[in-house]
Amino acid sequence: MVKINILGVGFDKYSLSEFEAKFLDRLKKRQSTLIVTANPEIVMTAKDDPSYREIINNVADYVTADGIGIVKAARMLGKRLPERVTGYDLFTWFLDTANQDKLRVYLIGAKPEVIQAVEKKVKSEYPDIDLVGCEDGYFKDSLETVASRIKATQPDLVFAALGFPKQERLLAILREEGLQATMMGVGGSFDVFSG
Ligand code: UDP
Repeated sequence: MVKINILGVGFDKYSLSEFEAKFLDRLKKRQSTLIVTANPEIVMTAKDDPSYREIINNVADYVTADGIGIVKAARMLGKRLPERVTGYDLFTWFLDTANQDKLRVYLIGAKPEVIQAVEKKVKSEYPDIDLVGCEDGYFKDSLETVASRIKATQPDLVFAALGFPKQERLLAILREEGLQATMMGVGGSFDVFSG
């Protein structure tokens, strides 16, 4: 599938339901998958940061348009992205899927009180999720050490709410090591979910 290039970042031209079908398929096959939900700030950062751009364009498996701004930018360039596909929407959809299939989920990010509230809510609203890890995003360890900790729990799904580019840098380590999980940076989603 040819990607749509916006300021050097390649976006996949799928609708939300098309993305979901692809993610489910890879999840079932336990294929290592990195999803980046790119908003305008991410695109602007990637434009000036080749190593971040490399992660988005060459390590990530899918790049979605996180926000109507990206969809409009595509239109101005005479191209078409079907719709916005946000990190938050995908996060809650993945939680439903994980609950249905009793999957192993690792959550990392946000302030200690926020991740505690997220943990509580996941345990009460998604009781069949196997929560294999839950930690805040203000760790002192290197990203490599954190990645090893995550890997050791053998998760099916990893969500990192560390803000960009940190979240993608952490998940790219796991993706490059071929961790058989679906991984996605979710920005401020834990704050929204817990509130
Ligand atoms: N965050 C974190 N560790 C850090 C920096 C930020 O866990 O070292 C968390 C922050 O608490 C928030 C989330 O990352 O929950 C997203 O932050 P922000 O809204 O700034 O990022 P964006 O949504 O713009 O990617």
